[in-house]
Amino acid sequence: MNSEQANTVSNSNLDNALTVAKFGGTSVADYDAMLRCASIIKNDTSNRLVVVSASAGVTNYLVRLGQKDVPATEQAEIIENIRAIQVNITQHLSSTVEAELNQEIDSLLTELSGYAEAQATEHTTKTADAILAFGEQFSSRIFAQVLQSVGVEGEYFNVQQIMKTNSLFGKAVVELIELDRLCGQVLAPKLVNKVIVTQGFIGQDANGNTTTLGRGGSDYSAALLAEALKATNLAIWTDVVGIFTTDPRITDQARAIKEISFGEAAEMATFGAKILHPATLIPAMRCNIPVFVGSSKEPEKGGTQIKKKVDSNPTYRSIALRREQTLVTVKSPAMLHASGFLAKVFSILAKHELSVDLITTSEISVALTFDNPVGSTQSIITNTVVAELEQLCEVTVEHGLSLVAVIGNGLNRAHGVGQKVFDTLEGINVRLICHGASANNLCFLVDEADANPTVEKLHRSLFA
Ligand code: ADP
Ligand code: ASP
Ligand code: MG
Repeated sequence: MNSEQANTVSNSNLDNALTVAKFGGTSVADYDAMLRCASIIKNDTSNRLVVVSASAGVTNYLVRLGQKDVPATEQAEIIENIRAIQVNITQHLSSTVEAELNQEIDSLLTELSGYAEAQATEHTTKTADAILAFGEQFSSRIFAQVLQSVGVEGEYFNVQQIMKTNSLFGKAVVELIELDRLCGQVLAPKLVNKVIVTQGFIGQDANGNTTTLGRGGSDYSAALLAEALKATNLAIWTDVVGIFTTDPRITDQARAIKEISFGEAAEMATFGAKILHPATLIPAMRCNIPVFVGSSKEPEKGGTQIKKKVDSNPTYRSIALRREQTLVTVKSPAMLHASGFLAKVFSILAKHELSVDLITTSEISVALTFDNPVGSTQSIITNTVVAELEQLCEVTVEHGLSLVAVIGNGLNRAHGVGQKVFDTLEGINVRLICHGASANNLCFLVDEADANPTVEKLHRSLFA
């Protein structure tokens, strides 16, 4: 059977609506939070596949555990803290289930300790990923049992059986054709009479090693699974009642957006709106699967619908902010009237797998921006990269910058956009501006210290 046939067979069994529901870390943080998620699943029988993140805080502990030179006492403390988060949940389940789950948790924690010990002596990105993946392994096992406790036939499923990736630890790339085939063969038949609970964020390479898709990657896992299953909906349940005009943590003036197009939401995610992992909308757009974003704490408040066509296309839709940007300026008089200079610069960047975000050029210099992955301890632009670039030109590297993006429609054509935005920012040092290349965004860099005031001022001016 080829993958297409496999999917057709499985989908004809499923017959009607199929929603993939993803719950983020705060949604599965403790027993009460998990219970609220279980009600969401129970109240809508189209929810057949549940994708969970690690309980809030667990992945951050695991990140620390996966670092070099973590003292044994700190390792033990972290493992105890992780255990406490998980057993605080299991203690609310029946004593038999609690005992079974705690046994599984303890044997996983023993395995985790082994990895942590190995990592402290010889650090590898492979072991770091093996460590990072434990959070989702705990939460998915526990949530399947919480579902059972409310009368839903929940069953744990190890996503590594189907989420095959390359071996780029920390930001692994998923093998889409394999996912499609294996989803049809292994996962879809299980959805017919059970609600399957699986892990976001993690995968497995061809050698059987655990991989991860990058921080916040559970949204993306859920979207890929929705695509492979030809789901009718994807629901992202989080801690806010939808997508807002900007991060509600920056200004209390931010307001929820009822509906937004795929394109606008994808721009927001790409430009740093943490509510969605940057790649989440790619699979959804490919298959035209509508995405809902809402709060698992207040599901009755509704949320944001992300879809292909929406009724309104306002000039200004939202403001996104991405911190920890690096600005590299390369300068060479040889650039003047020369051809091939930029090609050489880009070939060095490509060799180091560095992806350029924004670019502006002048006669003798080029400014490029790079995104540092969330939580990374060292700059994405290493000394080796700088040394190689210096063979060609003068190089300046600046850190501590934030990228502000105004997202909307027809921004490159609407009259007075630049004036409205930059008049508002009088007194703020704006470093690099990209306007005109895209109809959907206008973005610029500011110093980190100016980031929040910039967003607040802009929000007041554009959304008052
Ligand atoms: P989860 O753990 O559920 O994946 P995240 O913390 O990754 O949740 O994403 C939710 C957070 O995203 C919100 O608490 C909010 O602070 C932040 N956020 C950033 N930009 C936006 C936005 N435009 N609208 C809503 N939330 C946003
Ligand atoms: N648990 C992972 C993280 O904290 C993945 C996710 O939550 O989406 O990054
Ligand atoms: Mg998230």
